[in-house]
Amino acid sequence: MTSQVSERFEIALNTSAGQITTAVDVPTGFVPITSIVPLMRRLGEEAQALEIARVGEQGRAPSCQKGCAACCRMLVPLSAPEAFAVREWVRSRPAEQQARIVARFTETKVRLLSKGIWQQLSELCGASEPCSDEIVDEVNHRYYALRLACPFLEEENCTIYDERPAACRELLVTSPADRCEDLLANPVDTIASPIRISTVLGLLWQDVTSTSTRLIPLPLALDWAEAHARENDRTLKGPQLFDQALDKVWRFLSQSFSDGGRTAGG
Ligand code: SF4
Repeated sequence: MTSQVSERFEIALNTSAGQITTAVDVPTGFVPITSIVPLMRRLGEEAQALEIARVGEQGRAPSCQKGCAACCRMLVPLSAPEAFAVREWVRSRPAEQQARIVARFTETKVRLLSKGIWQQLSELCGASEPCSDEIVDEVNHRYYALRLACPFLEEENCTIYDERPAACRELLVTSPADRCEDLLANPVDTIASPIRISTVLGLLWQDVTSTSTRLIPLPLALDWAEAHARENDRTLKGPQLFDQALDKVWRFLSQSFSDGGRTAGG
């Protein structure tokens, strides 16, 4: 969040991995909804660091390493604010890189259209109610079976690494890396995310815009953000936006606790 005048908020959040206590500076003026994305990412990363430390005490450590992009063939869900942030990032790239990225998104779209998966994903994205796990699992399996590299992947490196979606940050495994070569055939040991930031941001977006969009599959993100650009013109007072976002985090965490540690939302 950026602005001249800001107010400091001290926050304490009880997560399944322990308590996060932190201070954040929130602009007091009007800000776009996307300005909350870095702050929410920070909370997610702090919660994840607690969980990594917790599993570390059990002798487990992440086996994910830079250059390993085995999981970058999975379908990544983004919240609407993240989709706009991704679009802004793409637009900020030098023309040549932008063209390469857009070309890869187009290739992906053509491939998904030819398999009928694009249409299925568009329906899921526009659904007014959350879809059943069975439907989501089915489309995830069909997508993964194609082993399409993420459009942001270049020579097995993530080109949007610092701005990558929360779902990418939250997927960490402790099992041997070679098991990730076929995630359908091999069981992997994941490190649970105490807070799923894309879910929280999706709920926030629904609340603030009174729309039904929760999550957008990454291959659709640029098209979706382009088609919904006007929805992103809306601004809110920083403290109000921050309060609403924290409310979604609390709801997510209390749902997690009432589920007995299973993550909420989706
Ligand atoms: S955004 Fe980056 S980390 Fe996420 S799937 Fe794409 S290449 Fe992988």
